[in-house]
Amino acid sequence: MASRSTKMPDDFSIYYLLKGVLPLEAPEEPVDDESREETNPQCQGLTGLRNLGNTCYMNAVIQCLCSVSPLVEYFLSGKYVASLSKENGEIATAFAYLLNDMWLGDFDCVSPEVFRLVLGERYPAFIKKTQQDAQEFLIYVLNELHEALKKTSKRRNPGTSSSSWESRSCVGESSIITRLFEGHLSYDVMCIECQTTTYKTEIFTVLSLPIPYETECSLEECLECFFQQDVLTWNNQINCSSCGMKTDAAVKASIAKAPKMVIFHLKRFDCQGSYKKKLTTDIYYPLNNLDLSPYIYPLFRKNPKYSLFAVVNHFGDLDGGHYTAFCKHTLTQSWYNFDDSRISEITEPEVQTSAAYLLFYSSQTFSMPVKNYNG
Ligand SMILES: [Zn+2]
Repeated sequence: MASRSTKMPDDFSIYYLLKGVLPLEAPEEPVDDESREETNPQCQGLTGLRNLGNTCYMNAVIQCLCSVSPLVEYFLSGKYVASLSKENGEIATAFAYLLNDMWLGDFDCVSPEVFRLVLGERYPAFIKKTQQDAQEFLIYVLNELHEALKKTSKRRNPGTSSSSWESRSCVGESSIITRLFEGHLSYDVMCIECQTTTYKTEIFTVLSLPIPYETECSLEECLECFFQQDVLTWNNQINCSSCGMKTDAAVKASIAKAPKMVIFHLKRFDCQGSYKKKLTTDIYYPLNNLDLSPYIYPLFRKNPKYSLFAVVNHFGDLDGGHYTAFCKHTLTQSWYNFDDSRISEITEPEVQTSAAYLLFYSSQTFSMPVKNYNG
């Protein structure tokens, strides 16, 4: 294997380029010299990320996104350029450059500094050298990429008139993010007084699951807890439009549209007022054949089976701690532990730990991202 180097973190030319005119082309192809041809494909995507001072939350999430092959291919191939919005395309462009560096296979380690600076202009919390929540960071990044890359079509709302479809896909907004990660939840809300049921739809890119037990449980038990019927009382009572009363209601969620990739957020951080606690429950999650069909609305059930491809881990307590990522490599199908700049291969049983915080599942098998796009 050709020896790899560390990309210097002070390469700010891209940053100034972003601040000026947005590039209209895909990131430039590296010079096709001999060393490039020797790049081992098994190194591609196996690139560490420098810690810029408590930025492990950011690094762990970026590594997981970097293992979503269709997303990587969309950026590496330059397809994203056609959809890029001029007003807020900086974050998506910086993300494309970062993925490109991570997938060249030339560097042991790269710095996410430019991506962080561009993101920090909109969300100053990410510039601070303090630990942030990886789940919040993931949602910000997915939202920003969606906003930068969305296409709005003029097609009519396909929802029926009896339900209030509030999803952005129904107003005709689609992007690589909605196509890969967006699912729909349907809530049946039944008035306890007159038994009238109304329906509500909500979109999700990350499902936040409650943890029903203290010491150990399965992911399926977390899912059952999330999808079980709940009763809305007190402050959560509904104003029933059928009987006109303010009443308790029975509510049950189900999946109306299952996403291709489903991301679960395990709610380990339990904060109620001043009471804060991290749940260290050992949660058993399957590596393959996760069946979501029990939670999918019968009409839309297609029995997709999901396989785990990435995990964000959180070690330590609430206010500090450390994040790492486990990702499955597309080509070798081996699992790797990404701990900032350090990468090590791990075995399948090692993927199961009580530190798991975000779980990334896919219903499709990934192929190696194709870099060249001639279309
Ligand atoms: Zn009613």
